[in-house]
Amino acid sequence: MTCKICGKTIDTYDVGAYRKFVDKAATEYACRDCLASELGWTREHLDDMILVYRRRGCLLFPPLEENKTE
Ligand SMILES: [Zn+2]
Repeated sequence: MTCKICGKTIDTYDVGAYRKFVDKAATEYACRDCLASELGWTREHLDDMILVYRRRGCLLFPPLEENKTE
């Protein structure tokens, strides 16, 4: 899967963030860099928000336990 804006390969975090912050039923997604600029957020703020939802156990993102180094 690729970003619909810049064509970069996207991962589950990009997909989860797009569903969470833009459209839960989306079939095309944007990478986090493009998503952050669409939302008017910094990339850092977007990553922080993703972490907040992962800590809450949001099912749109991989569980936090699998990535303890982050
Ligand atoms: Zn992009």
